[in-house]
Amino acid sequence: MSSQANISSLDDLNFDNRFIRELPADTETINNRRQVIGACYSRVSPTPVIKPQRVAYSREVAALLDLTPELCESDDFIRVFSGNSLTAGMESYATCYGGHQFGNWAGQLGDGRAINLGEVINKKGERWALQLKGAGPTPYSRTADGLAVLRSSVREFLCSEAMYHLGVPTTRALSLVLTGETVIRDMFYNGNPKAEPGAIVCRVAPSFTRFGNFQILTARGDIALLKKLADYTIRTDFPHLGEPSTTVYIAWFAEVCRRTAEMIVHWQRVGFVHGVMNTDNMSILGLTIDYGPYGWLENFDLNWTPNTTDAEQRRYRFGNQAQIALWNLGQLANAIYPLIEEVEPLQEALAVYKLTFEQGWQSMTAGKLGLNAFDPATDKDLCTELLVLLESVETDMTIFYRQLAKIGTNVEPPLNASACEDAINILSTAYYVPEQITPEYKTRLCLWLNRYIDRLKIDVTPDAIKKQRMNAVNPKYVLRNYLAQLAIDKAEQGDFSMVNELLECLRHPYDEQPGKEEFAGKRPDWARQRAGCSMLSCSS
Ligand code: AMP
Ligand code: MG
Repeated sequence: MSSQANISSLDDLNFDNRFIRELPADTETINNRRQVIGACYSRVSPTPVIKPQRVAYSREVAALLDLTPELCESDDFIRVFSGNSLTAGMESYATCYGGHQFGNWAGQLGDGRAINLGEVINKKGERWALQLKGAGPTPYSRTADGLAVLRSSVREFLCSEAMYHLGVPTTRALSLVLTGETVIRDMFYNGNPKAEPGAIVCRVAPSFTRFGNFQILTARGDIALLKKLADYTIRTDFPHLGEPSTTVYIAWFAEVCRRTAEMIVHWQRVGFVHGVMNTDNMSILGLTIDYGPYGWLENFDLNWTPNTTDAEQRRYRFGNQAQIALWNLGQLANAIYPLIEEVEPLQEALAVYKLTFEQGWQSMTAGKLGLNAFDPATDKDLCTELLVLLESVETDMTIFYRQLAKIGTNVEPPLNASACEDAINILSTAYYVPEQITPEYKTRLCLWLNRYIDRLKIDVTPDAIKKQRMNAVNPKYVLRNYLAQLAIDKAEQGDFSMVNELLECLRHPYDEQPGKEEFAGKRPDWARQRAGCSMLSCSS
């Protein structure tokens, strides 16, 4: 039943817990760590916490659940979203999945510190699953504690919402609460454990199912359950594909490939590096999921990864994300092969990924440059040279594209010395090291600008319109690594103002927002090597 009024008591949330209703449960109900066979989930309750405290909540996500702002400000809200009490319709559980971690099969992983609360049907009839991250151990916690610390929770909360407002497919975050308890973490796994404030994020998504939920079943030879989960997923999250059949499984996989490609194109557009693209961190819906040691490109660098755990191999570096997504889809293809028993259609779907990514990348690139469409004949070379320029001196990616939008076409290439100097001056705020902007570099940049302006002229788009279009795809505000860290530093001192200011600012990442420029600035020098800013680990 859907009511028209917003909800003022959490007990009125309309739950329809289909996942646990339709899929088999673990028969064991004790909360000990174990291998869970023949089931998709285990029932488990959040662990109560001592003194929960609200840090922030997202009003947009609250609105998705029809929650009034008053309710979000209430003590009830804190009680429920810290895991201290369940509302009438909630049924808590953790799901079973496996995954390839850094390219190696890791066996059962599962929701080790995520506890699902059920699925809300909002008044529009949309299904939203709620999940607490950091609410205590589950049967899948292996050797860990099931908890999360404030720093990683601030990062997950803010980034989920920032990504959404940037137009990137993502899981969402409703709330961020402190538990009032401390959690021990050795941030860099180097023998320096520290007590940190514990926190819980309530994540929200149509479904949290990952590639790994299918993989674990095939790895165990449980094809009957694999089929059940696939059928469930298709009926619930891909109903437009029709009733499950071999043809529908193939169409489903092709759609997962397409959605994943689109997600990666967005990541490349905004300069997001996930950091841990293990198959258990890949959503079947093509959503960005599991914000751990992710990072935002400051200086453009295809080789960059924020994840110190991956510093040697750089498997999940910025420029490798598209390849890795394909590899992960290959693992999903292996997992669902028993439903299809033909290699060719799976390969064709993987080709869909490549094509979608290639076309998506081209039109994204054209958009970033303010071109009407990508013309491979001219634009491939133009892009290649731009990437060389961006990488050869430290160039802030976000600032560069915003400044590039200011380059006008009312000049006739070849630009003379002073026109060149003017154009380079426009871009100069994007550079980190002024000494790197040598006369040779300027000459090469100017040659590129000549080609770029010539190319823009072919489109005959008025400059003002071109600029507007570029600014709609090139954000001014992203969750810069050092800004998140500053917000964390303050939050750890009990001051949540910056978390909330960033949340507010990142609601409108493409707008100029006069007065907020401090959030659009280059990474300061102190942040270059500071832990949490450009270096993160999986410890969270
Ligand atoms: P991640 O690398 O964060 O994607 O996590 C990989 C696996 O470890 C998943 O099964 C997580 O649920 C689990 N995990 C990560 N951190 C913890 C923790 N603090 N307690 C229990 N399980 C965890
Ligand atoms: Mg994960």
